[in-house]
Amino acid sequence: MDKGIVGIIDELAKEHILTEEKLQKLLLWQKKEEIEYLFECARAERERWYGKDVYIRGLIEFTNYCRNDCYYCGLRRSNSKAERYRLKYEEIIDCCRCGYDLGYRTFVLQGGEDYGYTKDMITELVSGIRRAYKDCAITLSFGEWEREAYEEWYMVGANRYLLRHETADCEHYSMLHPPQMSYENRMRCLKDLKEIGYQVGAGFMVGSPYQTTKHLVKDLMFLKKFSPHMVGIGPFISQKDTPFAEENNGALELTLKLLAILRLLLPKVLLPATTALGTIAPNGRQLGILAGANVVMPNLSPINVRKKYAIYDNKISSGEEAAEGKVRLEEQMESIGYKVVVDVGNSKMED
Ligand code: SAH
Repeated sequence: MDKGIVGIIDELAKEHILTEEKLQKLLLWQKKEEIEYLFECARAERERWYGKDVYIRGLIEFTNYCRNDCYYCGLRRSNSKAERYRLKYEEIIDCCRCGYDLGYRTFVLQGGEDYGYTKDMITELVSGIRRAYKDCAITLSFGEWEREAYEEWYMVGANRYLLRHETADCEHYSMLHPPQMSYENRMRCLKDLKEIGYQVGAGFMVGSPYQTTKHLVKDLMFLKKFSPHMVGIGPFISQKDTPFAEENNGALELTLKLLAILRLLLPKVLLPATTALGTIAPNGRQLGILAGANVVMPNLSPINVRKKYAIYDNKISSGEEAAEGKVRLEEQMESIGYKVVVDVGNSKMED
C-alpha cells in the first residue's frame, strides 16, 4: 500500500479532521487496496458507536407538487410530464400504522414544497401522528419554510428535519437552482432548524453537474463545522424531463469513498445508504453499509404513487408491499453481517 495515503487515512481515523489538501488527495485516490483500507477504518468507527445495528426509517413521499424549479429534480414545477399527487391525512396515517406494525419507529414525511399543504395542515398532521405514536420519531423533509413554521411543527411533536444543503459553494448552488432560490436561504433554514432543537440532516448529491473535487472538499469542511445529526448523500441521477437530462450520473466509487470519509470526519453521524445509491448499483445499499453507513430508509408510500415520485430516472420502486420489502432488506443486511433493529434510532451525538 502507498505509505503517504495510508498515513492520511490513519490521521483521519485518529483525528477526525484533515487539511483541505489531504482531503483533496484522498478524494482523488483511485487505487483499490488503499480505498478498501479506508472502508475498513470507517466500518470500525461505525461499529464503535452503532455496532452492527442498521436503523430503518419509513419514508412516506406524501406529495410531489412543488413550487420550486431545481434543475436536477423531476418534481420541479416546470416538469409538465410529472403526474402530480397529494396523499390525504388519512392515507398518511395509514402508512404510519402499517409501518409501525412492521417495526418502524421513525416516519419521514418527504415531499415537494407544496402550496396545497399549508403550515396549519402540516401542524394537524404532525399532531395526529404524535398522538397515535408516542414512541416514534417524526422526521420532516419538505424544503424551505419560514422559521415560524418550523417552530410550530417542532412544538406539536416533530423531532427531525432533513434538508440537504446540496452544495456548500454559493456559485455552484446557483448553477443547480433557478435565481429565485438562494444558498443564503438554504443556510438560514439549516441554522433555524438547529437552533429550534431539531435533529438536523444535511447533505448533497455526488457528481451533480459542474461539481468539482474542490466543491466536495468544501462540502466536507462545511459538514464538519455544522455537525448535523445526519448526512444524506447519494449519486446525482439524471431525470429525463429536467434541464439536466443529458448529464452524467454520479459514480458509485466516489459515493462510497465519501461515505467512509464522512464516517471518519463525524464518527457518530447517522449515515444513510440512500435509495439513489441502491439505484445506480443493485447492491449499492449493502456497499454503502460496508463503507460506514448505518441507516436505510425504505419506502412506506402506497404502491400506486411510488412511481410518480420520480425525482430521478429508474428510481428503485419494487412494487412489493412494505412487508415484503422489509423482509428482503433484513435478508440483505444479514447477508453482510448486519442487523435491522426496531429502534427509534437516535444519533449517539448527545450521549
Ligand atoms: N423538496 C425537499 C425534498 C425532496 S428531494 C427538499 O428540498 O429538501 C430530496 C433530495 O433528493 C434532494 O435534497 C436532492 O439532494 C435529492 N435529489 C433530487 N433530485 C435528484 C436527482 N436527480 N438525483 C439524485 N438525487 C436527487
